[in-house]
Amino acid sequence: MEFINRHIDRRLKTIRFRIDHGSRTNDGSVDNSRNFIVMPYVKGLSENVKRILNRCNVDFVYSVPKRLNNVIKLGKDVVANNQQMGVVYELSCVEYESVYIGQTKRHLETRVKEHKSNICKKNSCLSVVGKHRLENDHNFDWNNCKVLHRENHRRKREIEEMFFIMRQCNAINLQKDTDDLPPVYDTILGNM
Ligand SMILES: [Zn+2]
Repeated sequence: MEFINRHIDRRLKTIRFRIDHGSRTNDGSVDNSRNFIVMPYVKGLSENVKRILNRCNVDFVYSVPKRLNNVIKLGKDVVANNQQMGVVYELSCVEYESVYIGQTKRHLETRVKEHKSNICKKNSCLSVVGKHRLENDHNFDWNNCKVLHRENHRRKREIEEMFFIMRQCNAINLQKDTDDLPPVYDTILGNM
């Protein structure tokens, strides 16, 4: 409590100084933005502090707890997309809005390479992606395959894949790719 009071005091002094002397931004113009105090949220206390400060025309901003900060930082070291395993992915056609949605337990890169090399001239051995390329003379954005979801459990990943196919109206996937989707998802998708 002591610490909070001290913090507010110090901050208010700075703000008052700025109000009296005018605060200037880098380009020399006067900064008219509202003043604010950043503080961690303390249940039962912060609400009162906020009410009081609002009366003084000072905004109260809750700071992000350290724990959450650490979680967010983890995102910086994520594995490059094409090195991820156990993913549902989306491969986009570069010519038009069409996309292909698939899933793999292996490295995404490996699966994308397979799609890329599926270019034989016999229709019967072509994948949906291969057919789309041959029939429309289109190509896919191999280097920017998007990861839609990560899931190591095979069955869950397959369901996620079907779910994404159903949701994506530009998917070139075959109807049978989603035949296996549990009926409960029809309800979920119907409500989206
Ligand atoms: Zn296309």
